[in-house]
Amino acid sequence: PPLAEMHPVKALFKIPRWRQLTQHWDFEARPSVTHLLEHPFIKQAHGKDVALSQQLATLIREQQNVGCKTKTKHERINTRKTLIIESCPDDDLVNLEFLDETIISHLQKRYDELQVYTYVGDILIALNPFQNLSIYSPQFSKLYHGVKRADNPPHIFATADAAYQGMVTFCKDQCIIISGESGAGKTESAHLIVQHLTFLGKANNRTLREKILQVNPLVEAFGNACTAINDNSSRFGKYLEMKFTPTGAVMGAKISEYLLEKSRVIKQAAGEKNFHIFYYIYAGLYHEDKLKNYRLPDKTPPRLAVQVSQHCKVMQDIVSSKLYKEQFDAIQDCFRIIGFTEEEVNSVYRILSAILNTGNIEFTAITSQHQTDKSEVPNSEALENAASLLSIGSEELQEALTSHCVVTRGETIIRTNTVDKATDVRDAMSKALYGRLFSWIVNPGDDGMNVGILDIFGFENFKKNSFEQLCINIANEQIQFYFNQHIFALEQMEYQSEGVDASLVEYEDNRPILDMFLQKPMGLLSLLDEESRFPQATDQTLVDKFEDNLRCKYFWIPKRVELCFGIQHYAGKVLYNVNGFLEKNRDTLPADIVVYSLMDLLSKMVVGQPHFVRCIKPNDDRQALRFNKDRVMVQLRYTGILETVNIRRQGYSHRILFEDFVNRYYYLAFRAHQMPEISKENAVAILKQAKLEKWVLGKTKVFLKYYHVEQLNLLLREVI
Ligand code: ADP
Ligand code: MG
Repeated sequence: PPLAEMHPVKALFKIPRWRQLTQHWDFEARPSVTHLLEHPFIKQAHGKDVALSQQLATLIREQQNVGCKTKTKHERINTRKTLIIESCPDDDLVNLEFLDETIISHLQKRYDELQVYTYVGDILIALNPFQNLSIYSPQFSKLYHGVKRADNPPHIFATADAAYQGMVTFCKDQCIIISGESGAGKTESAHLIVQHLTFLGKANNRTLREKILQVNPLVEAFGNACTAINDNSSRFGKYLEMKFTPTGAVMGAKISEYLLEKSRVIKQAAGEKNFHIFYYIYAGLYHEDKLKNYRLPDKTPPRLAVQVSQHCKVMQDIVSSKLYKEQFDAIQDCFRIIGFTEEEVNSVYRILSAILNTGNIEFTAITSQHQTDKSEVPNSEALENAASLLSIGSEELQEALTSHCVVTRGETIIRTNTVDKATDVRDAMSKALYGRLFSWIVNPGDDGMNVGILDIFGFENFKKNSFEQLCINIANEQIQFYFNQHIFALEQMEYQSEGVDASLVEYEDNRPILDMFLQKPMGLLSLLDEESRFPQATDQTLVDKFEDNLRCKYFWIPKRVELCFGIQHYAGKVLYNVNGFLEKNRDTLPADIVVYSLMDLLSKMVVGQPHFVRCIKPNDDRQALRFNKDRVMVQLRYTGILETVNIRRQGYSHRILFEDFVNRYYYLAFRAHQMPEISKENAVAILKQAKLEKWVLGKTKVFLKYYHVEQLNLLLREVI
C-alpha cells in the first residue's frame, strides 16, 4: 500500500501535494525577467490588477539590477577582496567524488579556514564556529540578495535568500527546517535567517524592523534556560513565520511554540537552571526597588530560582549579577518596542512573582483521630503573596491546593488532599500558569504569504533521560521522517511515476520507530496514556506494560538498570528512566495531545517548500577551531547527510516539465523570436544543442543533474 495509507500520521503526508513541491525545485536556475513575467500569477494579476503586476515587474527588475551589479567583474573582485572569502567548487560536497572519510577531512579543512558553511546540494551544513564571525554585517546581506547561489560562498543568508526568492517568484509559502543537537547552533541560525529576511523584505520602517528583531530575545527570556550543554538552550520548539505582502515586503512575524518544557519551572536537573526570566526579574526588580510590590522575598531567593551552581547559591549573587540586570533592561525594551502596554508588562511580572511565591508554599499533614489525609499550609506568607498577586483570596487558593472535587453519581464531593497530592497540585498550578503566560506572550497574529522557520530542540541524550527527553526525541524522529520523505522517498516515487529507471537509493527509514511510538492502541504513547489512567499504576507496572507489549528491535529493557527502558533512535541509543513518567503525562498533556501538537507543526511544514539547514556541533567543549572528527561523523551519519551526498550525486535533482524547459531554454537552440512548439522532441533538441550528457527523459519531464542547470544557465547568459 502507498505510504500515506500505512502510516498513522497519514493525514500529514498528502503525497500529491508533496509532488507539487518538488516540481519547482531549482532556485538556482533563477528564471529570466521575461520568464518571470510569464508566470501564471503575474499573468493573472495582470488581468485583475495592473498596478500590482507593474509593481511586481519593477521589483523583479530591481532585483535583476542588483544581480547584474554584483556580476560586473571589477566590482565582484572588489567585494571579494574586502570579504576575503572565496567561492569555490568544493563549496558543495555534491561536486566532489567523495568517500565518507574524505567528506569529513574536507569539512575539517573548511572549518580550519573558518568556512563554517557548506552545501550538500540544496541543503546547508552549518558548523558551529563557537566564536563571532564577521560575516553577518549589512555588507553581507547585500551580497546575498537575489544572486545565483554559486556566485557567493555558502552562507546561511543564501538559504534565507533562496526561501525569499522562492516565495516571491512562485508565490508559495516556504519553510526552513533547522535541525541539529542541542548547542549545534539552531537558534543562532534562526536569528540570522530572520535578520536577513528582514533585510530582504525591505523592512524600511524602523519600528517594524525592530519589532521583528525583538521578538526573539523576548521569547528566549521566557523559553530558554541554562542547561549542562548550552547556556542558552531553547526549552521549546519554535515555529516562527515571517509574513510578507505579495510584493515581498515584510508585514510582521508570528511565533508558534511547541512542547514548552514546563516541568523546568518547578524542577531542574543537577547543574541546570530555571528559565532565564526568573533570574532577570529578580535582578531587575530588585534594582528598581520594586521587589516589595511583587512580594518577592528579598533575603533568601525563592526555592524555584535558587541557583544550582556552587558559586552562586545565595540571593545576593542573583541580585548583583550585572548580566541579569542588563538582560532585564533589554527585556523591558523588547516589551516596549513590540508594543506591550505597561499594564500588561506589570501583569507578566506579577504572574512570574506569583509562580515564585507559589513555589515557596509548603504543606504539613493534619493528623487527627478521624483524618490522616488532610493537609494545610502552616506558614501563610507565601500563600498570601501568591494569592494577592493573582488577585484571589488566600483561603480560596489554600482550598484549591488542599482539596479536590470528585463527581460521583451526579454528586459533587469535596475530598481533602494529602501533603503529596497538595504538593503535586501546587506544582501543576505553577506549570500551568507559566505555560499560559508563555503562550500569551507568544500570541499568534494573522495570515499572509510567509517564510516559516522551524527551530526545535535537537535530539537529546543525557546521563539521565526522562519524559521531556522522550517527547523531544519523538519530535526529532518526526522531523527526520519529514526530511527522509522529502529527500529520499519522494525522489524515488517521482522516478517511478515518470518511468525513469534510476537505481533505488538506500536510506535508513525511521518509520518503524515512529510506528512503535505512535501506533494505536499498542504504540508506546498509547500504552503510557492507558497506564496513566490507572490510579494504582506505578513505575514498575509501566515498565512491565511496555515490556509485554512492545516487541521490536528498537525497544529493550536493560538488565542491570532499574526502571529503565532503551530506545534505538535514528540518532542513537537512549536509556530512559520512567521515574515521573506517569505523573508528568497525567498532569501535563496526555501523550495524544503532544502528538497532535506535533501534527500541527508538521502539517504547517508540509504546506511550504522546504529548505534544510543542518547544524553540526564540531566539539562538546564549545571551543572555537576544535574539530572532533568522530563527533562530526556521528552527526553527519544520523542526520542523513552522508546518504544525501550520494543521492544528490547519483540522482537527478532537477526535474523540469517539458513545457517549462522549452519555455525557459529555447533560445539555446532556436531563434529568440521563434518560439518552438512545446514537445519532448524540442526539449531534446535543446539538450543536444547545449551538448549536455547524462540527462534522462521521463514521461512529462526532463531529468537533470545538479550541474546541468548551472551549465544551461551559463549558456543562456551568453546567448541573451
Ligand atoms: P541550539 O539552538 O542548537 O541549541 P544555539 O543556537 O543556542 O544552539 O548555539 C549555541 C551557542 O553556539 C551559541 O550560544 C553561540 O555561542 C554559539 N554559536 C552558534 N552559532 C553561531 C554562529 N553562527 N556564530 C557564532 N557563534 C555561534
Ligand atoms: Mg536552541
